[in-house]
Amino acid sequence: MLGLMQDRSLTLPHVFHRAEQLFGHKTVVTAAPSGETATTIAELCGRVRRLATVLDDLGITADGRVGTFCWNTARHLELYLAAPCTGRVLHTLNIRLFPDQLVYVANHAEDEVVFVDRSLLPLLWPHVDKLETVRTVVVIDDGADVPVPDDPRVRDYEELLAAARPRTGPFEVEDENTAAAMCYTSGTTGNPKGVVYSHRSAVLHSLATLFADGIALTERDVVLPIVPMFHANAWGLPYGVLMAGSSLVLPGPNMAPEAIVSMLERHEVTVTGGVPTIWMGIQPLLGEHDLSHLRTILCGGSAVPKALSKAYKEAIGVPMLQAWGMTETSPIATIATMHSHHDELTEDERDDARARQGFPAPLVDLRIVDPGTGELQPWDDVATGEVQAAGPWIARDYHRGEGGGAQFTEDGWLRTGDVASVDRYGSFRLVDRTKDLIKSGGEWIGSVELENEIMAHPKVAEAAVIAVPHERWVERPLACVVVKEGEDLTAEEIIEFLTPRVAKWWLPDAVEFIDEVPKTSVGKFSKKTLREKFGGYRVAGPSTHDGG
Ligand code: ADP
Repeated sequence: MLGLMQDRSLTLPHVFHRAEQLFGHKTVVTAAPSGETATTIAELCGRVRRLATVLDDLGITADGRVGTFCWNTARHLELYLAAPCTGRVLHTLNIRLFPDQLVYVANHAEDEVVFVDRSLLPLLWPHVDKLETVRTVVVIDDGADVPVPDDPRVRDYEELLAAARPRTGPFEVEDENTAAAMCYTSGTTGNPKGVVYSHRSAVLHSLATLFADGIALTERDVVLPIVPMFHANAWGLPYGVLMAGSSLVLPGPNMAPEAIVSMLERHEVTVTGGVPTIWMGIQPLLGEHDLSHLRTILCGGSAVPKALSKAYKEAIGVPMLQAWGMTETSPIATIATMHSHHDELTEDERDDARARQGFPAPLVDLRIVDPGTGELQPWDDVATGEVQAAGPWIARDYHRGEGGGAQFTEDGWLRTGDVASVDRYGSFRLVDRTKDLIKSGGEWIGSVELENEIMAHPKVAEAAVIAVPHERWVERPLACVVVKEGEDLTAEEIIEFLTPRVAKWWLPDAVEFIDEVPKTSVGKFSKKTLREKFGGYRVAGPSTHDGG
């Protein structure tokens, strides 16, 4: 017997029409080099209707890829809507990719047009001739003092919009499994891989940003996504905001800590999100600003150090809300909200709970599998294994089926490459990425756990731990530490600090002091760069594993 409910497609046009009908009065603020601009959702939706015609006029094919090379701005949001609502596929290009990768990604996706912020033209234009399928480059003038090339391929966004008639009537996308957007993984190994989101996955993921035991976006919120809109759809916040009807504040190109914190204060932002390095940069400024409206600081992309979350809790009363995921998981897979069983814990234990990656989001299935034997691991918080994921917003393949055979299991689950344990309540604790684990004498050392302990030292600004070759133990941990400005710290002090906190054989055999931990294109610690830098490193003297 079949159910008798309507089989309505879950598509982004619903999100657009809902925002247009219900939330026209709400605002979107964007910071640009020429100053801040505010627009209403009603104005923005009107422009999306014109932009739909512009895409037709530019001759973009029915499911053509629409590349964007933009900051977090209202214009970028217009493209987030116009491309998928007209059946095209939004392709957010990462502005920090190396030129070779940028060219590869745009050609692989077969972008037909690229919309670029004027301030970013110098990063894109030198490579345009190598973009085989791009016929048009549309410049969005953000007031940057950058010359616009005199070239027939170049068009002006505002001129195109002014000349276009608005599309009337509802947008329609019939099949909810149609591609809506795509985003390439940053490609720490091999070529970047194209993750293709469907309308259905985008709608369901947006709905998940509204769950109370998650980010809990509401109409009353003012949301500032610091996480770039070119990275995993800014964690789903833009579509989530449109579905909930929250107001939006977009930081544009100025990502300096002072600029961000002042926007958080002036616009009375309630929900924000960014990677830990962003929050580390802002932390010293907390005392100078009134952030009393902030209720949620979403943080993820890499492990959130307990010390960082605690520092925010103590300074402004708001700890980090950690989430875990990847481009392939849209990205939210787990979220570390506080549950009722945490009430019985001490405050310190609650801080530990917040430093975990948290509980699977509704509709996401996760399991932990021993990478050697393939056996499912128990949820006892001791056994570790690779996290595998399944669900309606989890990738089942990459664009053109390339680059990911090994990443999907025979029964269709995504192998995340992350190693974790899980407690009996279902809270995940990431130990490491498979490729970053340190194998000392056949036993694993979690680099993420170790660096979090080091970053708890009050004089440490940042720390990353990598494996270096060792004659006897094969690999040993090397700690790369950045000391806070104006402080003095020795390797001995770090080891002394770590000694009561980790197993003796986990203690790094060497500590290197560096000026800054190198970052990836999306602001995460780049252990690959560190490994290259310390490739020939040899640990001198005895290893802590010898006595352990
Ligand atoms: P890349 O794989 O190139 O870094 P992604 O942005 O998709 O691109 O990164 C996903 C990875 O980031 C995850 O597989 C995981 O290793 C790491 N990650 C994301 N969130 C967290 C978190 N909260 N804690 C620890 N690691 C995280």
